[in-house]
Amino acid sequence: MIARDGANESLWQNTSQAYIPTTQIDISKNYDVVIAGGGITGISTALQLQQAGLRCIVLEAHSLCFGTTGGTTAHLNTLLDTPYNTIAGNFGKEGASLVAQAVRESLNTVKANIERYQIDCNYEEATAYLFSQDEDQTKELESIREATVEAGVATAYTSTIPVPIPFEKALEIKNQAKFHPTRYVMALAKAFEEAGGTIIENCRVTATDNADPLVIKTNQGDIQTSWLIYATHIPPGVNLVHLRCAPYRSYAMAVRLADENYPAGLAYDMYDPYHYYRTQLIDGTPYLIAGGEDHKTAHEENTNTPFAKLESHIRKFFNVKEITNRWSSQYFEPADGLPYIGHMPGKPGKILVATGYGGNGITYSHVAARLLSSIVLNIESPYIKLFDPNRIKPIAGFTNFVKENVDVAKQLITGFFSKEKIHELADIAPGEGKIVKHDGHTLALYKDEAGQVHAINPRCPHLKCTVSWNLTEKTWDCPCHGARYNANGEVLTGPADMDLEKINLQKP
Ligand SMILES: Cc1cc2nc3c(=O)[nH]c(=O)nc-3n(C[C@H](O)[C@H](O)[C@H](O)COP(=O)(O)OP(=O)(O)OC[C@H]3O[C@@H](n4cnc5c(N)ncnc54)[C@H](O)[C@@H]3O)c2cc1C
Repeated sequence: MIARDGANESLWQNTSQAYIPTTQIDISKNYDVVIAGGGITGISTALQLQQAGLRCIVLEAHSLCFGTTGGTTAHLNTLLDTPYNTIAGNFGKEGASLVAQAVRESLNTVKANIERYQIDCNYEEATAYLFSQDEDQTKELESIREATVEAGVATAYTSTIPVPIPFEKALEIKNQAKFHPTRYVMALAKAFEEAGGTIIENCRVTATDNADPLVIKTNQGDIQTSWLIYATHIPPGVNLVHLRCAPYRSYAMAVRLADENYPAGLAYDMYDPYHYYRTQLIDGTPYLIAGGEDHKTAHEENTNTPFAKLESHIRKFFNVKEITNRWSSQYFEPADGLPYIGHMPGKPGKILVATGYGGNGITYSHVAARLLSSIVLNIESPYIKLFDPNRIKPIAGFTNFVKENVDVAKQLITGFFSKEKIHELADIAPGEGKIVKHDGHTLALYKDEAGQVHAINPRCPHLKCTVSWNLTEKTWDCPCHGARYNANGEVLTGPADMDLEKINLQKP
């Protein structure tokens, strides 16, 4: 089964085979491009650059699709989470048209890849439906319709929607699509290696300089390269993009229906956060995928609650036979509605990044592949300016912000809690974690299945915020910038690139 950054199993993990890379790292070689991250962005970008004749290497900290690509719901849309009226407001009507063009090209590229590499990933084109359920939403729907049409995406009102949910008005947008994301990415990874590329798993990029060539530090040795692309969903380290991307958790379920009444289209309501529904056929078996109940990472104390709400929402409208999978995953919401793709802020050299996709990263991954390739290959593109991460203006006080947070790092916990005290505080069931406070100090405790208590410093090494326990995914999640750790405090996802500090309970 494909590994993922959470305890819950997504629909994709046990219905696709992991592609096992066959290539080896060569640290004596000077690569043209190092791509950090083996999700949909890293693999599609690497393939595009390798095909252009460059020597590319993908370095993945865990295994392919370990990040959000393994926990997505895989709609391919030109109807975006940031509506075109908002994009036009922030980037002008021309900007909105360019975004529409970029995402249309992305959808075409996915389709072309599937045809070219004969990928069996249950790809299907479908119509999307956005529906309103009260007067305010209906008003908003009209603004969205106008801006969407103006951006160049054909949209019209319709009197029917594919889900049994009451609605006031609905828009339909044709030529959207859906697929099995990990089958797609695993097949692209194979194509990349066959084109001469290299993929190394369990290889974390930990640092780089800004020289030419760049020297990339990893846990498997240093690598020289002309370019570095952070396709890590959020880049590691401390950067302005971290202040412009808010981490969110989103919840999804795969459901078998008793009446076999699976919706043919993709349907979205207009609540904030919104719910969505679509069908995915896998090897002849249909599943209803429904999702929503998003919240800022680590801002929900009991992560069973969003699952319970989502389940009761689904049961209200559908005849549920069985919930086969339930999982949550993380996305990064950009401050102004568009992703940050291009030169890493503060790094004028050859370090690139793709982040801030919101809930449209499957679609935007191929915008990133194209745009980042244009930069590396020095090809002009109107998208470079539009998605430029340096549109973020340096924020007054940022330096102080970082400094203050780093100062907090000095607080060491070891020694403040006796072993007896820790066991007294750890009144939790096996498999559970908890933040405890005692005598002015805070500690993260996890009791493993054998009943042994593990103590961890809850301060995230990224910018020193205190992590929270995510009881459904069995992870420690940072509320500030979204770094996540397993129950033992080992880093799962950035921006942190170090584990939480383990506290030795044997000390007096
Ligand atoms: C529940 C949910 C549903 C979604 N549904 C949709 C949808 O329907 N349509 C859509 O377009 N988008 C959707 N999205 C968003 C989309 O899934 C993501 O934006 C997308 O998968 C991100 O892909 P990625 O390759 O950029 O990042 P990831 O898939 O997160 O991959 C990043 C990889 O980098 C690795 N990594 C991290 N740090 C390092 C390091 N220092 N060195 C080396 N490797 C590292 C990680 O292990 C990981 O494998 C959804 C998101 C969520 C949470």
